[in-house]
Amino acid sequence: KGMRQMLKVKNLNVYYGGIHALKNVNLEINQGEIVTLIGANGAGKTSTLRAISGLIPYKSGIIQFKGKALKGVPAYKLVYEGMGHVPEGRKIFANLTVMENLELGAYSRKDKHKVKEEYASIFEKFPRLEERKLQLAGTLSGGEQQMLAIGRALMSKPELLLLDEPSMGLAPIIVKGIFEIIKEINQGGTTILLVEQNANMALSIAHRAYVLETGNIVTSGAAKDLMNNEDIKKAYLGE
Ligand code: ATP
Repeated sequence: KGMRQMLKVKNLNVYYGGIHALKNVNLEINQGEIVTLIGANGAGKTSTLRAISGLIPYKSGIIQFKGKALKGVPAYKLVYEGMGHVPEGRKIFANLTVMENLELGAYSRKDKHKVKEEYASIFEKFPRLEERKLQLAGTLSGGEQQMLAIGRALMSKPELLLLDEPSMGLAPIIVKGIFEIIKEINQGGTTILLVEQNANMALSIAHRAYVLETGNIVTSGAAKDLMNNEDIKKAYLGE
């Protein structure tokens, strides 16, 4: 089948003042894939996602989304183009209800009359959210907040979904459930870039992976191969 390129990052360099956080990062995502970016604390995973979604500037390099260069396109406009971002720490609106948070996720939709169908599809994936529709988001459990953050991003019907450490701070059983839903979202046709410190979980659902170390991509390949790679096992899979 013909693979359409969803995202291409070429020689990306990001600095924070004098800190060279991303060093010539290259990566590609084809339509329909789950690609994961793994790496230790501070490796540059979040910076990569934030550069892609227009939240931080980059000094040099090219980021192409669906074949178009993105330089200077602000984050909110990328949502209209089909890029959804679930940020690190979830960033839900604590003083708004579950429904209100979801509603805000739909701001970019032109087909407002179809937004109702989106709630149904999100509640099907996350029945917990439906039970808690009118609850203030700040009172949800960590796992429920992560579900809400993902649901909110899905309200924009993204073609590419960027997920920043969905496992953060959650019990293994909850993480397992969330990763199953991520797989389901992908099977529904959404391409996914998943940033994770939990390499085991990430590799278990991804098609391909990239490994970041202090701002450099040091390895990439099929997720299956990386899972069986001795160096990766030692460094990232707790073996
Ligand atoms: P984590 O998993 O801990 O979030 P990460 O792999 O996502 O780590 P980044 O958050 O992208 O890593 O950080 C990469 C490097 O850039 C780190 O050394 C970090 O200290 C630095 N950095 C990130 N944001 C800033 C900032 N706003 N100002 C200065 N340095 C920053």
